[in-house]
Amino acid sequence: MAIRTISDLEDSKYAGKRVFVRVDFNVSVSNGSVGEDYRIRMTIPTIEYLTKRGAKVILASHLGRPDGPSQKNSLEPVARRLKEIVGRSRMCVRFANDCIGPAVENEISQMNAGDILLLENLRFHKEEEANDLEFCKKLGHLADIYVNDAFSTSHRKHASTYGAAKLFDTRLAGLNLKKEVDYLSMMVTNPVRPFKVLLGGAKIKDKIGALEHLLPKADKVIIGGAAAYTFLKAKGVRTGKSLIDNEHLPWVTKALATYGDKIMLPTDHVAAYSPDDKSVTMVKGDIPDDMAGFDIGNETIDRYSAEVGIGNGGMVFWNGPMGMFEVGAFANGTITIAKSIALAYWRGAKTLVGGGDTLEALKKAGVAENEVSHVSTGGGATLNFLAGDEMPGVAILEQ
Ligand code: AMP
Repeated sequence: MAIRTISDLEDSKYAGKRVFVRVDFNVSVSNGSVGEDYRIRMTIPTIEYLTKRGAKVILASHLGRPDGPSQKNSLEPVARRLKEIVGRSRMCVRFANDCIGPAVENEISQMNAGDILLLENLRFHKEEEANDLEFCKKLGHLADIYVNDAFSTSHRKHASTYGAAKLFDTRLAGLNLKKEVDYLSMMVTNPVRPFKVLLGGAKIKDKIGALEHLLPKADKVIIGGAAAYTFLKAKGVRTGKSLIDNEHLPWVTKALATYGDKIMLPTDHVAAYSPDDKSVTMVKGDIPDDMAGFDIGNETIDRYSAEVGIGNGGMVFWNGPMGMFEVGAFANGTITIAKSIALAYWRGAKTLVGGGDTLEALKKAGVAENEVSHVSTGGGATLNFLAGDEMPGVAILEQ
């Protein structure tokens, strides 16, 4: 079933209407100021699409995992940053101290066409995550039209992503959510070939569902990060003290037996006795028993970069760092791969990069957001979608 987006509704339907937009402004805030603001900037197309058509835009988000209201998890600094971002236009951006209740309703009643109001953190009310019906009704009461532009939280059945959405007659996807769903759907149904998947990170169990769908579709599945060591162990390579997911070893063994010809694994590693070890060693093949692999080695980097960055067109999906990239000595694999993905983009590939870590890796590599076809902010949601799991926040938009 198709989802309707904000551009599917006639422009005249927005004039003077209150539009509730679920966004993901779950950004890092320290000392009252926003750090990386990509999640805010990426909502601008949706926000400005609506304000230009005379809508009163009511933005709702969560921030962190608060246990009741707290200054630390307030969205007020986000409202300030949003104001700076849209500052050059005449739009008015305000902040409401709560997300429901008479004071918020009063604030909304004073909005003019084209105004923006950011509500306080939805999770200050535990009813948000509980998808509580009364809370849903209070959110539903605030607006005439519902829009979801927060793909990254759409795998959750929360009030703002599901229960409240159900109460609106008009439920639409924001431009980002639609773009993300389109890219991910293309990957599992009709990928542009050659289709290459790069999977890294540590938690194999989070990625198995997605891998099950991607392995049959992809032309190459390139594994890095700690995840690679479980694959290598399954092949009989000695992995020393590297992080292994023994529970999923049987699954990995089966995947190798079925799709081994398209799975690429590291052949050398940056190994150390511990993550804080200052003297790291490049190891080829087996890893000594008292050492662990923390990054892919130079030979592997060259092979992976050539596979990803060379050639015209195709499609690349990347989720998860190639090593423990937070530590300088183990960041080279991830940084070089990020640059190769940018090269693939310049050579005409469609590239989709997902997960919070991967966004951080792009930054470290100096790869700009416009050197990737789509930067997905939804790590968990992206993997769930690819695994074919139910996405309540997307399903509710299908009509
Ligand atoms: P995930 O959430 O599964 O994508 O895992 C991301 C984490 O994996 C990052 O914090 C990395 O530091 C970690 N990681 C990647 N490669 C390795 C490795 N070889 N050994 C230990 N941790 C790793």
